[in-house]
Amino acid sequence: MNSERDFSDIITGLAKKRGFFWGPSPEIYGGSSGFYDLGPLGKLLKNRLENAIRTSFVRANFWEVECPTVSPEAVWKASGHLDGFIDPVTKCTKCEQIYRADNLIEEQSPGAQIAGKSVEELTEIIKELGIVCASCKSPLGPVDSYNLMMKTRLGLDQDAYLRPETATTTYLLFRRFLTFFRDKLPMSVFQIGKAYRNEISPRQGMLRLREFTQTEGQIFILEEDEQNWPQFEDIKDEELPLLSYPAQEKGKTEPVKMKMSEALKKGHFQKPAYAWCVFLAYSIFRNMGFSEEKMRLRQHLETERAHYAQDAWDIEVYTESFGWVECCGVHDRGNYDLTRHQEFSKEKMHVKVNQKPGVPNVLEIAFGVERPLFCLIDNAFQPESEERDTDWLRFPPAVAPIQVAVFPLMGKPELQEPAHLIFDEIVDAGFISQYDVGGSIGKRYRRQDEVGTPFCVTIDYTTIEDGTVTVRDRNSMEQIRISKDELIVVLRKLVKGTIQFESLVVR
Ligand SMILES: [Zn+2]
Repeated sequence: MNSERDFSDIITGLAKKRGFFWGPSPEIYGGSSGFYDLGPLGKLLKNRLENAIRTSFVRANFWEVECPTVSPEAVWKASGHLDGFIDPVTKCTKCEQIYRADNLIEEQSPGAQIAGKSVEELTEIIKELGIVCASCKSPLGPVDSYNLMMKTRLGLDQDAYLRPETATTTYLLFRRFLTFFRDKLPMSVFQIGKAYRNEISPRQGMLRLREFTQTEGQIFILEEDEQNWPQFEDIKDEELPLLSYPAQEKGKTEPVKMKMSEALKKGHFQKPAYAWCVFLAYSIFRNMGFSEEKMRLRQHLETERAHYAQDAWDIEVYTESFGWVECCGVHDRGNYDLTRHQEFSKEKMHVKVNQKPGVPNVLEIAFGVERPLFCLIDNAFQPESEERDTDWLRFPPAVAPIQVAVFPLMGKPELQEPAHLIFDEIVDAGFISQYDVGGSIGKRYRRQDEVGTPFCVTIDYTTIEDGTVTVRDRNSMEQIRISKDELIVVLRKLVKGTIQFESLVVR
């Protein structure tokens, strides 16, 4: 526990010092927990992650939309959030400190069975286990439910809420989608945008935010197509690290690498279309730079699942800071959402199936962007060593905030001029680059290592003579000399990972 705390402090300290994230925000007014600012490098990293997400969805034929973040109360009544998006809370009868009842029970009585319990049952459990106020040890009041949505007002008197997820706002467009997709199902769409959750007392920094960026992708699909999903053929031989719920019930925590076709045959997945969504979510995380070894796919136990959900798998990422962190959910939501909105809005949310009206099902991939952002920094961290006198970040080149740094060996005009030309060329080619002329070359390498820049290009007097530059690799600290004419092509391959730096080193 102690070392965990220490490691998350190291990552948070590093992130603040080097400009990844700051907070809780607003810092100069004392800060509100659950809010963070992204610094210049954090914003670059987040853009990278969002680009990886967009590219993955577009490649899978999803279309992006953007909806308002505020919706009137009627929407949340229909979606079930007004009545169901709640946390159980309890208040100390003496000092009036408010706690999340489930967290408090887990802290004081690890292993207590509390999943899916009602507020009345939680009140009983608190009594039975003798759980008391953590700060003054007085008895606690009855458990009550507390809605996590942030309330606001439209005009003078219309109640409205900031969206607690993007998905609901996407569902509301169903009829518009039908027109756009010319009445052809399945229809695949996604949204990346802000969502808000009024957590009682968010802890764990960037992992639990009151305002965050959510990504949610949906497929509106007919039941018969869920079984008949031709794209499954393309991924059937892919192996994923799976931890099914029967395995968890046997006490297993290690995932088993399994071919998707085998997982389907063994009944870990019921539907090829849903299994394909689980694979898509996994491939998005791979594209965001997570290694296979740091990921597992964990199936929800029946007690963890929403009542309407037919199946749910999470992607979890291993961190030194917090152990396994739940980062993404893939949900088979059935036709719950569209049925509810049809009932409450009185608008048609169905299509004709064999001459009869049928409400399509929804398969969904949902995750916040800030969690993977934190986990990626955690996974990239490398402590200082004999070879390197600073700790550094080993980001995969494709998602590193800065991909290429450009240095003139010295600040002299005859070196700065060609260095500026090369810098412009690198930026024009679409790389995020930094031009740095301050301090010795060693110091400049060190600064780039600290923020995880994979490649540094140096322009020296030999450049003027023969048109070559040096490229230095962050991981190995080795250098090569190449012609500046082939620089962009080589950098592109290195960043994409289609060639390895090692193969370019002349020995
Ligand atoms: Zn108290």
